[in-house]
Amino acid sequence: MQNTCEIGPALFWHSFKKGVLSVIKKILVIGGAGYIGSNACKAIKMSGREPVVFDNFSSGHRHAVKWGDLIEGDIRNEPKIRAALEKVRPDAVMHFAANIEVGQGEKEPGLFYENNVAGTLNVLRAMIDLGLQNFIFSSTCAIYGDPEKLPLVEDMPKRPVSVYGRSKLMVETILEDLSRAEGLRYAALRYFNAAGADLDGEVGEEHDPETHLIPNALKAAAGIGQGMKLFGDDYPTPDGTCIRDYIHIADLVAAHIMAAEHIDQTGESLQLNLGTGNGFTVKQVLNAVERAVGKPVPVEISPRRPGDAIALYADTSKSKAILGWEPEHSDMDTIVSSAWNFHKTVWDLN
Ligand code: UDP
Repeated sequence: MQNTCEIGPALFWHSFKKGVLSVIKKILVIGGAGYIGSNACKAIKMSGREPVVFDNFSSGHRHAVKWGDLIEGDIRNEPKIRAALEKVRPDAVMHFAANIEVGQGEKEPGLFYENNVAGTLNVLRAMIDLGLQNFIFSSTCAIYGDPEKLPLVEDMPKRPVSVYGRSKLMVETILEDLSRAEGLRYAALRYFNAAGADLDGEVGEEHDPETHLIPNALKAAAGIGQGMKLFGDDYPTPDGTCIRDYIHIADLVAAHIMAAEHIDQTGESLQLNLGTGNGFTVKQVLNAVERAVGKPVPVEISPRRPGDAIALYADTSKSKAILGWEPEHSDMDTIVSSAWNFHKTVWDLN
């Protein structure tokens, strides 16, 4: 088996340690052409399982579908997603398809609720009708809103401050109800800041427009475009910039496979934070980008971005205790250098 070190020994030995052979073989990956979905497909394939991608290519890329079959479709088209589930009859469904850009959600809430909530409900109702189990949901730390206390623990209050966060919390509420009333088994995985690229450089972050810090900083350091804006340097943090918890994409997707196995084996549903527990300021991330690229990042200090929380980082003890999951590639230099390796190829800088 190649690439075992990339997705981490923890994932490979997870089933073994639990003393149970995995029955999760085939996984429908909704949004499998996107950043996290395509990395998940690779991890699924490399772990000896079979991914099947369902994607409408609204933001994903055809070139990122390379580890399994493709069904082109939109979750808002109920007959289409139902037919895909019926055809594939997956052992688990990983659902990454969503509108994610916080600013867009404030302008187009109807789109976010239609896609993120109603579309997801189509998937869930079809799964229940077809007797399918093991739904792995891309949730977010944005459901906690502006926290009163840090680190964030899973049972803390949920007061999302954006349409995006509310759309994800609505789905978590739906999941709780469907689980109680209809026996649906699920894991809601609350991502902190997914970052970095596949360690072989095959798939990474390619959003258009790109709003995330690391790709924007890499682009600025590489001299592409007009430099980047740093949104606010007057926050009450040690250097005045916001604090986030960055988790390497390889660690993030490994947790999805572990979660699918865990809920299948135990029959219990879960809500878990996926982060490292370490907070980095924007300026600390920019320093790591300068180390990776070997050039300064030209930055324009700009006003605060509406909706940005001052600081967010996870308490990861529940994920560690329940899944036996530990981040293995999430030190900041590995995150940034993997992203840089990927983007150098995409931007033709090699
Ligand atoms: N950020 C920034 N300039 C950018 C993109 C992001 O200063 O071009 C800041 C943003 O305000 C936040 C942090 O970087 O404090 C992480 O933002 P990102 O959009 O990557 O993730 P988020 O935490 O919003 O999900």
